[in-house]
Amino acid sequence: MDNIENKNEKRTMPLIPLRGISIFPYMVIHFDVGRDKSVNALEEAMVNDSLIFLTSQKEAKVDMPTPDDFYHVGTVCKIKQMLKLPGDTVRVLVEGVNRGRVLDIIKEEPYFEVQLEEPFYDEEVEKDKELDAIMRMVVDSFEEYIAAGNKVSPETLITVEEIEEPGRLADVIASYIQLKPENRQKILEAFEPYERLEKLHVILKEELEVLKIEKTISQRVKKQINKVQKEYYLKEQMKAIQKELGEEEGILQEVEEYKEKIGEIDLPDEVKEKALKEVDRLLKVSPSSAESGVIRTYLDWIVDLPWDKETKDRVDIKKSRKILDEDHYGLKDVKERILEYIAIRKLAKSMKGPILCLVGPPGVGKTSIAKSIARSLKREFVRMSLGGVRDEAEIRGHRRTYVGAIPGRIISSIKKANSKNPVFLFDEIDKISSNFRGDPASALLEVLDPEQNSTFTDHFLEVPFDLSKVMFITTANSLTPIPRPLLDRMEVIRISGYTEEEKLNISKKYLIPKQLKEHGLKEKNLKISDNTIANIINNYTRESGVRNLERNIAKVCRRSAKRIVEENKKTIRVNSSNLKKYLGVSRYRHEKAGEKHQIGIATGLAWTAVGGETLSIEVTPMKGTGKLQLTGQLGDVMKESARAGVSYIRSKVEELEISEDFHKEQDIHIHVPEGAIPKDGPSAGITMATAVISALSKRPINRKVAMTGEITLRGRVLPVGGIKEKVLAANRAGIEKILLPWDNQKDMEEVSDKVKKKVEFVFVKTMDEVLKHALVNEDDNNENK
Ligand code: ADP
Repeated sequence: MDNIENKNEKRTMPLIPLRGISIFPYMVIHFDVGRDKSVNALEEAMVNDSLIFLTSQKEAKVDMPTPDDFYHVGTVCKIKQMLKLPGDTVRVLVEGVNRGRVLDIIKEEPYFEVQLEEPFYDEEVEKDKELDAIMRMVVDSFEEYIAAGNKVSPETLITVEEIEEPGRLADVIASYIQLKPENRQKILEAFEPYERLEKLHVILKEELEVLKIEKTISQRVKKQINKVQKEYYLKEQMKAIQKELGEEEGILQEVEEYKEKIGEIDLPDEVKEKALKEVDRLLKVSPSSAESGVIRTYLDWIVDLPWDKETKDRVDIKKSRKILDEDHYGLKDVKERILEYIAIRKLAKSMKGPILCLVGPPGVGKTSIAKSIARSLKREFVRMSLGGVRDEAEIRGHRRTYVGAIPGRIISSIKKANSKNPVFLFDEIDKISSNFRGDPASALLEVLDPEQNSTFTDHFLEVPFDLSKVMFITTANSLTPIPRPLLDRMEVIRISGYTEEEKLNISKKYLIPKQLKEHGLKEKNLKISDNTIANIINNYTRESGVRNLERNIAKVCRRSAKRIVEENKKTIRVNSSNLKKYLGVSRYRHEKAGEKHQIGIATGLAWTAVGGETLSIEVTPMKGTGKLQLTGQLGDVMKESARAGVSYIRSKVEELEISEDFHKEQDIHIHVPEGAIPKDGPSAGITMATAVISALSKRPINRKVAMTGEITLRGRVLPVGGIKEKVLAANRAGIEKILLPWDNQKDMEEVSDKVKKKVEFVFVKTMDEVLKHALVNEDDNNENK
């Protein structure tokens, strides 16, 4: 589940409303961007994953569009290139990726950011005759359209004829023909391929009709026009000549401006020399050439970077503690470690040293702690997500010979921070991966190494930029995927998930006040009871952190604000009975421990990168020849562990009252429901063994019991990791008794007293003990129903 939420999470992106164009999936197009808000959106997209959501304005002439002024269905596009043009215009080349619909406007300044509904990729459709027919009709009309002398090259037809997917066919043709904006939008909003083709066909037919009429008229008019046209053509040519002459002057002025700016900055000699050389080059190339655009982009970067700008640190432990407490509930140990870290830096008088790595599931406050650190040190804060970074160039930039090159994301972020000593957060350092285009991890290693990072050289800038004063902090969901050399450089601080009580407190003391303020509401405007908050926690979110909780609270605030304004109310009361009006139907029914004691179904506890999870393991024996079959998304270690369990059972058939020949006469099928995240590790060992024994001996398993532990061939139970997270998950799921390995007793320190009171813990050394607590006698079963 968490994974899906994460996906939604990724679906927020910056938006640009376009004037007079709309973009279809697969379409590659360039256009110029001039409005500040749009340029901001572009920059944000480049700093992240280069994805941007493009939609059309309903009226091209509106200069400062509000959300009502643009369509809410548009296209998610990948930015392929950016080129700075004279003035403040930027030319971008984009490729349409898929349709999307705006669900929510997250912010409107300094650029539009929206949350999108799941991407609308065309579904694979079964081709039938009808679909074939409409495809052929559309291609025929398109051919007619080309033949009518429109500016589409006949080769296009060949490309189009080869397209097999109906939806894509419609999109590609639509992108070639000249259409009225309303018609383009109509096609964009047709999510279903057949419907899209049909609409396109009608529109094409209409266009052809109009073309025919136009043609007759134009022949009539042509004669009269010839003379007028000649005059017009000459005038245009004159204008062009004048413009060229004017530009020459413009360039001289631009060169002066650059020289002045370079003079004002305290640049390292090497950089200054290089920059002045580029300024000279600007004079030698034609002002409207692409080369001149590249030089301008380069010079703008040089003059915009904070070479000589830095903030003064405030190292005051008392103040820092106050700020950390102001921003975060609980997290005592984490705060102490951070304060120690700052104190040591103060004593050592430098910010060098190991890099902090905050590890924990999403939404537990890693990013916001990093922000607090920046606030307490009075430093600027920038964040760069490493999720999905595969290409070294994303970190280190492209060389300038590469068309549309810009610096990598490190330098872009530093520019955004506008200070050479910001707190720089590398988010999701566990999500970088490498491929043939270089190894981003090694580039990062250089950035994080205090010996090397004072001369960090971006491929685009070609001159070193000093990163040694930056304070780097990293976050990760899990430590396992982080390359060893990187990990060695970092000081790990773990933040685990929150219990329901903690979430309730966080909501009351932090999230609700914060959201009220953001929505311009006063405390008295919105009354929301503890029960209702608990209801949101349990039925509208399923997470270790509080990110979705905060989002839901924001939604309640938004709707309340609307009602206050529209209905002229003073106070809105939200309670469990009217919550639906604010949040819709609840998304989750909390997965409570199974309804009845069952044979062959055991509850295990798993630990994944996004927190703890309960996991129900199902076993079905079938007549067969002793095969062991495992399904679900399981790793190799888990399969091994299932085999160990079965071997143990074979050595104990008598005691367990299982047929001696079960391994010859029966196949055993173990299924672990997939969930969103692949699971591996030996910790489901005792759970699988219990489920198999229950299935073979036909004795039911207590539904209120959950367990975790590795099993050996002899039935000993070995300790496992992630106890705190697992216990939290079991508590969420309404488990009453948890079986843990004997050697995990030491981990109980981390478990809060509140949970200890609610759940019974049993520490076991052997499989016998596990069975004693997990299996129920038929008589107990009746009582427990
Ligand atoms: P992460 O970076 O771990 O995914 P975030 O820092 O984005 O999580 O946190 C999500 C939201 O939850 C933020 O608004 C943050 O302020 C809030 N939050 C998380 N933990 C706490 C806490 N202990 N106290 C107050 N607010 C919190």
